[in-house]
Amino acid sequence: MADPDLVAEPLWPARHRGEHRQRFLRVWDLLAGAAAEVVALVLPVECVCCGKEDLALCPGCERRLRMLTRHPFRAETGSPALMDTDGSVILPVVAAGIYREELSQSILAFKRHGQGQLRSVLSKILAGALAAAYSGTDRMVLVPVPTSAGAYRKRGFSPVHLLLAGAPWSVSSRHPDYLDALCKVRNPRTGNSLGGQKGLGRGDRSRRVRGSMRSARGARGRALRGRQCIIVDDVLTTGATLAEAARAIHEAGGIVRGAVVLAATRPPDAAAVPAQSRQSGDRLGAS
Ligand SMILES: [Zn+2]
Repeated sequence: MADPDLVAEPLWPARHRGEHRQRFLRVWDLLAGAAAEVVALVLPVECVCCGKEDLALCPGCERRLRMLTRHPFRAETGSPALMDTDGSVILPVVAAGIYREELSQSILAFKRHGQGQLRSVLSKILAGALAAAYSGTDRMVLVPVPTSAGAYRKRGFSPVHLLLAGAPWSVSSRHPDYLDALCKVRNPRTGNSLGGQKGLGRGDRSRRVRGSMRSARGARGRALRGRQCIIVDDVLTTGATLAEAARAIHEAGGIVRGAVVLAATRPPDAAAVPAQSRQSGDRLGAS
């Protein structure tokens, strides 16, 4: 006899069975509701954007967040580390939105707590930007920017890795490969990651970030060789971090096609082309 726990439930259960199930679900709802209320008493949940007591992100703010990220755009022009002096693009980047309002508030709150609801909303937004950038014609691999050792110790998780792991890829687009192939280089004396950016000017930041990443040792690092890579990060500011990730991938034999971020701190300039309106094929390719 087959184990009843392993037998798939019929799609359309018999009527009486459905009634039992309904009653059970009602009781379950009551219990779950009561439990949620107890939890809410202990830990009041407030919207991270407007402070309304509801969910970590209330429906109104979630709607605004979706509006802010409806049109992923090419964002590299605002980042000096990603543009050459003659104005040509060194590394094309697609951002889901501008780092402001509900988008910046959600990202900050998510990075602080790794909160479940924010994770699912931001994962969808990231997947949307990746879909806009990644045509699916080539076999691309997504490479997340590594978190510094200090930030990881403080938070206990890496926000970008968490978002990529939770990203809902649409059924129509092929699931991209994901390769956690970069590491931060540690200072041999302090054990801290190199390339901390706090309180540094733009030039200092670029210099300090250079050499702060490397490919992972062993199979993960070797897997970069000859692969078409898209770098993934949360926020684009000067672009120094993405440029360093690109350098480390290139050094390991990978081919960097571009990067995708949740948000860019600078709005696209007038000449920038929206990610979605570009020609098919390699949409991340430098124009
Ligand atoms: Zn709200």
